[in-house]
Amino acid sequence: MKVHAIQTGFVRIKTAQVEGRGHGLRRQLAIFTDRNWTDWLPIYAWVIDHPDGIIVVDTGQGAHLLETGKSLHPYIRWEAGFRIDREAEIGPQLRALGIGPRDVKRVVLTHLHMDHDGGLKHFPHSEILVAPGELRSASGWAGRVRGYLPNRWPSWFDPAPIHLTPEPFGPFAASVRLTRAGDVVAVATPGHTASHISVLVQDEETTFFLAGDTSYNEHLMLGGKVDGVSADDRISSATLHAIKSFTQSQPTVYLPTHDPQSGVRLANRRLVGTVEPTVQAA
Ligand SMILES: [Zn+2]
Repeated sequence: MKVHAIQTGFVRIKTAQVEGRGHGLRRQLAIFTDRNWTDWLPIYAWVIDHPDGIIVVDTGQGAHLLETGKSLHPYIRWEAGFRIDREAEIGPQLRALGIGPRDVKRVVLTHLHMDHDGGLKHFPHSEILVAPGELRSASGWAGRVRGYLPNRWPSWFDPAPIHLTPEPFGPFAASVRLTRAGDVVAVATPGHTASHISVLVQDEETTFFLAGDTSYNEHLMLGGKVDGVSADDRISSATLHAIKSFTQSQPTVYLPTHDPQSGVRLANRRLVGTVEPTVQAA
C-alpha cells in the first residue's frame, strides 16, 4: 500500500479563516472584514494505492475556479483566490502516475467545498462516497447560499452515501471501514463542516491521517485553534482535541489539505510531535 500526494494548484484565503477570531457568527463574519491574505497554500488530494483497489480522497480544485470573480456569492467572489492550470487538475496528474479513470475504484470526499470536489469530472467510472449530511448541506440553492458549487457538479454526479456507524475508532465517535482488512477507515471529524470526515490509512505501525480541512495546518491542530468557517466552535474544538489525542496514542502523519508541509511530511513519513531535521549548509 502506498499513499501519493497530488497537489492541484494553490489557494489563498483570509488569515481570519485559517485561525478564527471570536465566537459564532462574529467569527465567520471576521473573514469578510479581514484585509490580510495568507500566502498561496497548496490544495492536496490523496491517492491510496491499496490491494482492494485505488481509493482517491478528495479531488482538489478545477480550472473553472479561475472564474470565481464572476460569482454573485460574496465569499467566492472576494474572499478566496485560486491558481491552477488544466494540467494540474487531478485527472492529468493521475495519468502521469499511470492511473487511468477506470483504475480508481472509489473516491471519498472529506466534504464538498469547491477545492475538494473541483476534480469530480475526472471520475465518471468510480464509486463516489459522500456523507449524507454533507450532500444535503451542499445541494440546491441552499447549498449555493452556503458557498458550495453544486451547479459545477458533473451531470452524472450521484454519490453513494457513506454511513458512519456509532462504532468508536479511538477518540472518534463514528467510523466505517473502507477496506476488507480494515486498514483504511473513515472517521467523523465534524467542525469545519457539520458532516466533515477524515480518512485514516494504517500502514503497519504508522497512521496517515488524511485530514481534509479539520485544520489548515498541524500547528493549529496541536494548538486546538478553530478555523473561521466552523459553524460551532465547540464541536470543532472537540474534534481538534480528539485528533491530537489520537496522534499522541499512535505514530501518526497528519496531512491537512492546505498545510504547506503536507507533501514533504508524507514523503518523509514525519510523525506528529517530531521536528523536521534541518539541513545543514555544507
Ligand atoms: Zn473546506
